[in-house]
Amino acid sequence: MKRSIRRQLLLWLLIPLLSLSAFSSIGAFYIGENLARSIYDRELVNSADSVLARIKIKDAHISVDMPVAALSILRHNNRDEFYFQILSESGQFIAGHDFLPLPKIEQLTITPQFRFFKLKERQLRAVAFFVPISEANASVENVIIQVAETRNTRKELTNQIAVTVLLSQFILIACALIAVWVGVRRGLSPLTRVESAVNLRSPGDLSPLEVDEPSEIKSLVDALNNLLHQLSEDVELQKRFIANAAHQLRTPIAGLGTYSALARKLAKDEELKEVLSELDLGIARMGKVVGRLLMLARSEPGASSTRQMSVVDLNSVVSEVTAASVPEAIKQKVDLEFHSTSEPALIYGDPGGIEELASNLIENSILYTQNGGTIKIEVAIRNGTTILTVEDDGPGIPKEERERIFERFYRLPGTEKPGTGLGLAIVKEIVSSHKAKIDVSPAAGGNGSAFKVSFDTYKSKN
Ligand code: ADP
Repeated sequence: MKRSIRRQLLLWLLIPLLSLSAFSSIGAFYIGENLARSIYDRELVNSADSVLARIKIKDAHISVDMPVAALSILRHNNRDEFYFQILSESGQFIAGHDFLPLPKIEQLTITPQFRFFKLKERQLRAVAFFVPISEANASVENVIIQVAETRNTRKELTNQIAVTVLLSQFILIACALIAVWVGVRRGLSPLTRVESAVNLRSPGDLSPLEVDEPSEIKSLVDALNNLLHQLSEDVELQKRFIANAAHQLRTPIAGLGTYSALARKLAKDEELKEVLSELDLGIARMGKVVGRLLMLARSEPGASSTRQMSVVDLNSVVSEVTAASVPEAIKQKVDLEFHSTSEPALIYGDPGGIEELASNLIENSILYTQNGGTIKIEVAIRNGTTILTVEDDGPGIPKEERERIFERFYRLPGTEKPGTGLGLAIVKEIVSSHKAKIDVSPAAGGNGSAFKVSFDTYKSKN
């Protein structure tokens, strides 16, 4: 799983929050228990006093007048049991409930002593203390009073306090998590903006990113911009090198061609003539590759200085290219059909580039279509788009190859016709420099292929 800043932040917040809430819950439980204990212990001492008020001494005999109604008042509620007993100083049972375990008499004083104990599986809280008897005729000087009650109500109060604290903590944690989630989302939004700024640009665009970024990601954007700057310098250098090399090679190749043609003319030997005509072919091919490389370098983004943008009528450029291709079409025995629009098909572009584009597409169609084939060249305007279609009934291009044919030096496997693999790469560059679109699909007839280039139709400002 990929590391996510949002998940990390939430995790780092959740761990201390949960530990803090665990500690404070334990604390809240103890505070609740202590609170419940001090409240109910005071009540227990009050109950002991109420029992004491009901002590009767008659003929030196001590008894407690405790009717059922009075006992039920001392129980406070019907969820708990209440017990009492009066003992002599030495722990002899005098009155009350005799089944209560005796308190530790040696530790008793007149100050209430509290303790917990278990009676028949029930947990009880008890208080016991010495009470001096003031009556002169009493059989003892001091008695011990012990009262005890079950702890159901105490536990309920403790639980209520703990649940209230836990619930409020749970709400607090949930709110903190939502706040962090939203905060992190908002905090990370500049990164999303940088991401879409990068995604939106065309592959050839190496200009610096301009995003209104906060200081935290400024260094990242700066580093990216530095890299883009370096990359664009390298690409520029490489392009210039290829353009210069191709330019420098053109003249010697042309010279070589002239000399080889001359040598062929002067040669007497038939075998030598054959070798020289092979050499001629090689030189012509080399000249074509160099010419294409030069054209590619000129069509690439950044070479806009060589591009002359103007309003162009696609009909006239394409009809000129078609007319110039007729001799080649006759040689290859294919028919050329040209359909133009009745109105001028105006686009804003570089006439030289558009001519190159049309000529590459038409040249390919003538080259790859078998004898007797037909090539349909059409200029049309549909929904504000000016479209050039070059459709042939040649071998067609398999679906999986329709993207790859635009790569540099890529030729379909098994292509035997001479070529450089650069023609469609040049077409692609020209298309993207005109912000146009190119699609390859099977020809309407079934066999063959249709190259469709869509330009924005030029709209005059007045
Ligand atoms: P080249 O034609 O010099 O080989 P391109 O870049 O113009 O280079 O074309 C790349 C490849 O695409 C060609 O080698 C060919 O296999 C294929 N191709 C191009 N146009 C057509 C077409 N009209 N019909 C069939 N295949 C084509």
